[in-house]
Amino acid sequence: MLAGVGPAVRRKLARLGLDTIRDLLEHRPRRYESPVPERRIADLREDEEVTIEAEVLSVGERRRGRLRILTARVRDESATTTATWFNQPWLKAQLQPGTRLRLRGRSGRYGFDVRSYDLGEASATADFAPVYPASEELPPGRLRGLVEAALPHARDFPDALPAETRQRLDLPLLPDALTALHRPRDEREAELARRRLAFDELLVLQLGLARRTREREGERAPALGTPGKLVARYLELLPFELTPHQRSAIAEIDADLARATPMQRLLQGDVGSGKTVVALYALLRAVENGRQGALMAPTETLAEQHFLTVEPICEELGVRVALLTGSVKTQEEGSQIVVGTHALIQEGVDLGELAVAVVDEQHRFGVEQRRALAEGRSPHVLHMTATPIPRTLALTVYGDLAVSEIAKPPASRKPVVTSWIPEEKASKAYQRLRRLLAEGRQAYVVCPLVEESETSSARAAEQEAERLARAELRGFRVGCVHGRLRPAERRELMRRFKERELDVLVATTVIEVGVDVANATVMIVQEADRFGLAQLHQLRGRVGRGAEQSFCLLVSRAKEELTDSARERLEALEASTDGFELAERDLEIRGEGQLLGTRQAGLSDLKFTRLRADRPLLELARREAAALVDRPGPLADEVDRVFASREAAA
Ligand code: ADP
Ligand code: MG
Repeated sequence: MLAGVGPAVRRKLARLGLDTIRDLLEHRPRRYESPVPERRIADLREDEEVTIEAEVLSVGERRRGRLRILTARVRDESATTTATWFNQPWLKAQLQPGTRLRLRGRSGRYGFDVRSYDLGEASATADFAPVYPASEELPPGRLRGLVEAALPHARDFPDALPAETRQRLDLPLLPDALTALHRPRDEREAELARRRLAFDELLVLQLGLARRTREREGERAPALGTPGKLVARYLELLPFELTPHQRSAIAEIDADLARATPMQRLLQGDVGSGKTVVALYALLRAVENGRQGALMAPTETLAEQHFLTVEPICEELGVRVALLTGSVKTQEEGSQIVVGTHALIQEGVDLGELAVAVVDEQHRFGVEQRRALAEGRSPHVLHMTATPIPRTLALTVYGDLAVSEIAKPPASRKPVVTSWIPEEKASKAYQRLRRLLAEGRQAYVVCPLVEESETSSARAAEQEAERLARAELRGFRVGCVHGRLRPAERRELMRRFKERELDVLVATTVIEVGVDVANATVMIVQEADRFGLAQLHQLRGRVGRGAEQSFCLLVSRAKEELTDSARERLEALEASTDGFELAERDLEIRGEGQLLGTRQAGLSDLKFTRLRADRPLLELARREAAALVDRPGPLADEVDRVFASREAAA
């Protein structure tokens, strides 16, 4: 860190994720000030943003409610005015009479409202001055000073990008880019700098992915030939026709399995689009070749749900299947398909003949767990995810995987009718729910998000279940599931719900994934405004799984109390049931790099990339990475560094 930065400031910087000089240099400005004219005080006009240069005559301070207003009489050669600062009392000591200032702001009700100021050397008020993401404890001025102090060090960092590549692509030198990032002469220079830095991070990412692909090329998996009798019988047993999307996913999987290079395929599809059907197909391909298949899920609930789906079909096919989680272990001796959580790997199950592994909700697994699965064997791997990811992002995060997409659910399914209902009309939602229950349907009620802990959210759900059973849901059979139930209890509850011994399941978000009860056609989400868009979409996927029309009722706090983005989320969900469309919308509402699942993938590290706008840059980085993957040197070291820390964090 910089010389002269004390431990207190250091801690504050660390809370912004700024630990080193390099971090400071790479602290990307949120935006730049637009250029404004310089004016004499006598020429100030109402509501025009300008800069003035002036000298302090006197300083005063007053309070209005919680507001602390600092005022200074200031003068230039033309006139005097009163400059006002809000809630910056510490400035008072610096505004001694006679001090020279540069102020940027506009004439307002209280005189000249100061937006930024320079005491001494100009920077904050300058045209295109950077505006940093700051924190309350580290005001923008202080942060700007620290970045300024770091700038001379921009030349200390070697440029990892080969000079030939840099010149051919006409990119600025690294130190120039870092300097221009903080002190651009204009918007264009700032953008060129950002683009260079974005290219670097995309290149490193793509190199890491290219390396992984390369490493796998040397591995050997059993080639499984062409589809045989077992899978043919399986497809006949299914009570429905596969959709075209399912058929093409299966064809792609078959092509992969025919090769001795291990399959690395991502099966993307919305909740309920029919991925599990495809996954079981892949597992059975292993079985018909005298090998084993494993299906891994990130939670016990999900593993159990998969087991319940898979077991009856396997039984009919005469395939031995076992469930293995931290708490359950069915007969595993000689099993051909094993379903489980990561306990599957840890408990040393005999997977000596493993040929196909399906990893569900793959982004939830840590790198370690995925690696452990592959340890000492190289099965064909099918990753499944129900979190639709916009294409650009998929390429960035999963660039080393082939992608199959189930873009449309089975046609027999009607889109879930979604309504956003403000709290004051919540009774209407329950009326609708009761009507559907009376017709023999079943329902979910999702409780508000409780941040503190699994235990407190479990408690809240139980209380809510009791309350509902006495009030809105009197006369109906109400159960409650949450993350604090013992596995046996939870299984029993799910079984009772599935067999219609319960009408309503009051739940925390543990039902988010995996629950599959076709007769459950209505869901109420309480305080829906507090959930993220992706999460609400996942939750909604629990209904609409049969042929009946399903409903999702999103109850929110009063409309006036909601933030803009909460309103936009709920509107988006009302308007669309298409997961990919919603993922794009989510990206728009939330801004770059914050999409669900991206942090686990290390994407939160992308500081400079604008995922959508930089699509061409991403393609460029992919092409360059292919040529550079084998080249040792500073760039390769950088890839080591970034991927090592990323995997350590995963
Ligand atoms: P996902 O795993 O993508 O959430 P599932 O494979 O669990 O979806 O399928 C959801 C439901 O749709 C299941 O009840 C399944 O039996 C049914 N289903 C799957 N494929 C089809 C199809 N082609 N036609 C009709 N129903 C289907
Ligand atoms: Mg499923």
